[in-house]
Amino acid sequence: MNLATMMACATCRIALTEHNSGDSIVYRHPVSDDGHEVAPVNADLIKRVFHSCHTCTDAPPMWNYHTGHIEILSLSSGIAADYSDQWHVCLRCAQLIEADDSDALTARCAGLMRWHPDSDEYTILRTLQRGIVLSREGRTLLTTTNWPPARISADMMPKIRDRFSGLLRGPANLPAAINDRDQRQNLARQFDLIPMYWINQEFTNLVNTVSADRPPAWVTDEIAPSTSGLLAWPDPVGQTGQLAAVSWTPEGDGWQVIGYRSIGSGIDEDLMPTLRHEIGWLVPIHAEHIARGTPLGGSHPLGPLITTWLLINQQMAEAVPAKLPKGTTRAYQRSRRPAPEVKIVQIRARDTTPLPERAEQTGPRTRAKPDHRFWVSGHPRQQAYGPGRSLRREIEIQPFLKGDEHLPIKLSTTVRILGGRPGEAGDMSPE
Ligand SMILES: [Zn+2]
Ligand SMILES: [Zn+2]
Repeated sequence: MNLATMMACATCRIALTEHNSGDSIVYRHPVSDDGHEVAPVNADLIKRVFHSCHTCTDAPPMWNYHTGHIEILSLSSGIAADYSDQWHVCLRCAQLIEADDSDALTARCAGLMRWHPDSDEYTILRTLQRGIVLSREGRTLLTTTNWPPARISADMMPKIRDRFSGLLRGPANLPAAINDRDQRQNLARQFDLIPMYWINQEFTNLVNTVSADRPPAWVTDEIAPSTSGLLAWPDPVGQTGQLAAVSWTPEGDGWQVIGYRSIGSGIDEDLMPTLRHEIGWLVPIHAEHIARGTPLGGSHPLGPLITTWLLINQQMAEAVPAKLPKGTTRAYQRSRRPAPEVKIVQIRARDTTPLPERAEQTGPRTRAKPDHRFWVSGHPRQQAYGPGRSLRREIEIQPFLKGDEHLPIKLSTTVRILGGRPGEAGDMSPE
């Protein structure tokens, strides 16, 4: 399930709030004013979407506050203004709401608007914001704000992991798909011991180059480097350029897989410690149960994870333990936790045998070697087993990046294997 999609009104370009109405989601304007009908579309299709804090309009929103439905009746005009029960709020305004300081919130927001404390606007704003502070029922982490990403290094991984498990254990709501309290506690416990992988820059570049073209691979225990894991790339990957990290944990007949974006900046410097303390680095943008054996192609939102697994599995990459700063390991000792283990995944040292020699080894009767690297599609194969190898069972041969490591990678080229499964996404004939 995609958690990153923001909806906006095609008429007024304002980002919309989501309201659950039975089984369906209804989108509304944050504050109803001129009464035009809402026209919800994917915000990516609109230029210059207005996606700012509903209280100060000065910064991108971090939290969605749920309140009672707020209506204000103006005694002088006799007109009732209908507001909302959901408010997208920036980190700075949220600090004031959490401190129950609605006067400071109003002073901040009216100050930005240059409204005089004696004005009618100020009075209405103060009433509205008192309503928000007093009637608030909880807050949910907004996952639709597109933050500038963080650059992630291997030694940051334990902290990044611990902040997300802190968020899972904390009182703030997450999007409904991953908000079940028991599941959150269970996931947090798994995160405490989860193996961590950091993909180095060279390997990340390779994943970015080959992932979109990758034919479907079957998600199995064989290609997963461990039963659970948290894996991050230095910079975000994937077709939307947002996927900073992915976690996978066993769940029923497969895994719960969560994709995350990272928050690197976009927030005033003085609020960064608050951000890292309350939220950390990761914001979930994709959550999906993936059953064992599910075919998953390179263009899927989680495609770069499976590409990374495949390349590790075909021994193109190796994992070496990261040396963590002494401060990190000591902090774990003090809290009586086992030392965190982060593995750096990098491309294996290259075969340095000179080329002519290698060419000779292949013998005269082999076919001409290709001058580029390409994906070979995965396919099922009948494998002999049992007494006298008389029995057959179907096994899956996973897609394979073929060709010598020094060769260039040719894009949009997948060689079809006879007997493969036709018509699957990503199974393209050579150009
Ligand atoms: Zn509108
Ligand atoms: Zn604000």
